Amino acid sequence: MVTRRATIAGLGALATQLILPSAEAAAQEPPYQLGEWTGDSFTPMHAIRDGLWRAPLSAPERRVDVVVIGGGLAGLAVAALLRDRDVLVLERESDPGGVAKSERWREVDYALGSAYIVDISHPFMELYETLGLAPRPVSEPVDRALSVAAGAGDPREREWRGGYERLKALLRRLGESPDFPKIPIGEATESALALDQLSLHEFLRREQIDAELFGLLDAYSLSALGAPTAEISAYAGVNFLSEINAPIYAFPGGNAAIARALAARISRAGEGRIVTGAAVYAIEPAEGGYARVGWFDARHPKEPRCLEARWTVVAAPYFFAGRILRGVDPAATAQMTRLRQGSYLVANCCFEGPPAALPYDSWALGAQSFSDAISATAVLPAAERPKDHSVLTVYAPFRDPRAGRARLLAGERAAFAAPIVEELRRFMPEAFGKARLAEVRLTRWGHHHLIAAPGIIATMRALPKRFGNVLLAHSDGQGMPAVESAIVEARNAVEIITKG
Ligand SMILES: Cc1cc2nc3c(=O)[nH]c(=O)nc-3n(C[C@H](O)[C@H](O)[C@H](O)COP(=O)(O)OP(=O)(O)OC[C@H]3O[C@@H](n4cnc5c(N)ncnc54)[C@H](O)[C@@H]3O)c2cc1C
Repeated sequence: MVTRRATIAGLGALATQLILPSAEAAAQEPPYQLGEWTGDSFTPMHAIRDGLWRAPLSAPERRVDVVVIGGGLAGLAVAALLRDRDVLVLERESDPGGVAKSERWREVDYALGSAYIVDISHPFMELYETLGLAPRPVSEPVDRALSVAAGAGDPREREWRGGYERLKALLRRLGESPDFPKIPIGEATESALALDQLSLHEFLRREQIDAELFGLLDAYSLSALGAPTAEISAYAGVNFLSEINAPIYAFPGGNAAIARALAARISRAGEGRIVTGAAVYAIEPAEGGYARVGWFDARHPKEPRCLEARWTVVAAPYFFAGRILRGVDPAATAQMTRLRQGSYLVANCCFEGPPAALPYDSWALGAQSFSDAISATAVLPAAERPKDHSVLTVYAPFRDPRAGRARLLAGERAAFAAPIVEELRRFMPEAFGKARLAEVRLTRWGHHHLIAAPGIIATMRALPKRFGNVLLAHSDGQGMPAVESAIVEARNAVEIITKG
């Protein structure tokens, strides 16, 4: 059993996903089922990387008013807001949603990635209401995360209490100030922009936040923004961390509920408007202000297709958009392709038997193979929670994104699942109390997390988001991987298109 002392000593050693299972554990058949991979399908993107992006475009088969590349939250929001026009979404995966997807195990909806929302003020709540969604608060206004360390309870109690309260007071003060580092970044004040030049670590130490809190802060920062506090912009870090002073909200299955509602709205306006399995490999200018979009059916990479659009909205990550945009300022596309992306594993652990009463989000400080775990049923009213099964969504961002991608590509599911399960048993034994782990379902995200490094806000404010009638609208444009960023970027693109 890990003692509290051992846990605190281990806090400096943030090493998510560095451990491999012991040889003994790896050799044995796991005592739980292992589901097939969900998440990114790498083949079409690697076909583009390995040469297709240079291939000439074929003759256009059709013309549309607006084509949206990427059916994540940003792309779906663009298409839903423009549903009265001739709009088409090309999405490379077999389902829309991007990193906001969900699956179901025995009537429990669980997230494959994006889980909760923070901001329900204008204009976000209006969108949720229009979609018929009612965000449910999942934590009290105070102390969102429970930090669990093998029975040690919440380390923010006792000695940490004072430091944690000081952090909250600092964030509250910043939150009430006009200089709060907000989304949209276009509205940032000079003082807020100055934060972007510092790392979150530097800023919090300057504000005399206790060193002992950095175990929690680094884990949070890695999970939410792609790297520990020393490698993250203080602008992005303060914006995200401010959530510890307010309730957060969720839907069963996480933010996939937003994606589903957007997709339903688009489909109601016209069948066939979301084409899945359609990977775009090039966008180039055409006559009359149109753009040509080269794409292929993910199952047939050797049969390129092409369409023309009056407006093209690229709602795919910037690092990738920079590769497929032809005939635009090469300095801009070079900057886009240099943006660093994290890599991520999510393990959904399905339990049979009476569930433990768990808080929404539990942070496992000092754990080597994951950062936190969300109870998929905590969002349900107590009366609606199943009595004999439950799902824990375990988040495992890679500390080294490149090494993470290589391991994800190799795809050894048992080698990923074993250390996570081993550590889950140590850090959250109550989850296993009266229940049996029946199945582990793994999701891999190769490039789905922009790393919000110092200077990211300045970079994203300076990058052009319009090249003639080709617009960029991905959450990357706000420098922070969040639902709110996706919605802001979508609204900006829609405004330009609507004004003509
Ligand atoms: C594991 C994880 C957990 C997260 N948790 C939260 C959270 O709890 N709360 C929160 O606010 N944010 C969270 N985020 C971040 C947030 O969900 C995302 O920033 C947001 O959903 C991104 O939406 P998007 O549309 O901008 O991009 P994406 O979701 O990246 O969508 C881009 C879409 O483009 C498609 N695409 C890419 N290339 C091509 C191509 N060549 N042709 C066709 N289609 C293409 C992709 O398949 C994808 O569907 C999380 C992110 C991850 C990875």
